[in-house]
Amino acid sequence: MNQKILILGACGQIGIELTKKLRAIYGNDNVIASDIREGDQEMMAAGAFEIIDATNKERILEVVKQYNITQVYLMAAMLSAVAEKHPMKAWDLNMTSLLAVLDLAKEKHIEKVYWASSMAVFGATSPKINTPQKTIMEPSTVYGISKVSGEHWCNYYYQKYGVDVRSIRYPGIISWKTKPGGGTTDYAVDIFFEAVKKGSYECFLKADTRLPMMYMDDAINATVEIMETDAKNIKIRTSYNLAAMSFTPEELANEIKKYLPNFKITYKPDFRQQIAESWPQIIDDSSAREDWNWRHTFDLSAMTKDIITSLEAQKVVG
Ligand code: NAD
Repeated sequence: MNQKILILGACGQIGIELTKKLRAIYGNDNVIASDIREGDQEMMAAGAFEIIDATNKERILEVVKQYNITQVYLMAAMLSAVAEKHPMKAWDLNMTSLLAVLDLAKEKHIEKVYWASSMAVFGATSPKINTPQKTIMEPSTVYGISKVSGEHWCNYYYQKYGVDVRSIRYPGIISWKTKPGGGTTDYAVDIFFEAVKKGSYECFLKADTRLPMMYMDDAINATVEIMETDAKNIKIRTSYNLAAMSFTPEELANEIKKYLPNFKITYKPDFRQQIAESWPQIIDDSSAREDWNWRHTFDLSAMTKDIITSLEAQKVVG
């Protein structure tokens, strides 16, 4: 049977690019974008779009029935930095939306679910270097608590009801076509825009804060690959560690200086420093590489070259 896909939270940093990719693969008519708000003109014009509050199970079901949806990608969430300011709202959005979608799969309205987890599941007591797939997980943020809990719900629905749910623990995702939505790794996106526009950037993390990161193209490919692989390859039903590169703000600034030699970075750490320090520095993603053949394409230098040349060529800023 043809796949019909519904994306919840399609207007976010990852959702916009995921929608484009899925439409390129499955056809515009087979990918329904949705969000609690309208998206940019390009998204609205390219295919069907519905306003859906991802915490409203009845509304999701209505759209699932309207379009004969078989797969749901749940990308709606409140991210780490914003969630610290609105803990209960974050918990409600992140949990209620997941349980609604898992229930729809349990009730056989849909066949397959994708849900986004995060490296924020790890905390200060997890090993920071080569953080294993399975280790101590004591997150210190409400965002991380919601993601650990969500992972256990995914595994529970798989074990108990056979729900085919697949998930990735994204590291910080870096993009230039879309802006980030309030995470702790947002500096690594903002820095490129400011570097090209102003030639300088004030970073909200310290110079030596090493964090795992990934270029958007790799994140989107991983998301599609984990959903397309045969169910027997998915051996982990909580969520998979995923990695590509790890760097500090200083290392990123030095890479940018290869293209913009006058670029200047200053540091003014805020509350996000504490969040960053609770997270891994380098993640071991060997399970994803073994189970469903995950391979990344972009390292720090390839990514920096791609972003700077794209921003300058398209005159996105300035
Ligand atoms: P984002 O904040 O950019 O986008 C989230 C989208 O959800 C927004 O378009 C927002 O309008 C929408 N939304 C908010 N409340 C909603 C509701 N009630 N119903 C429907 N839509 C609603 O987030 P993102 O960066 O695209 O992240 C997508 C997923 O990936 C999230 O689960 C996030 O936790 C996870 N993740 C992202 C990163 C990253 O670096 N971007 C890293 C790790 C994990």
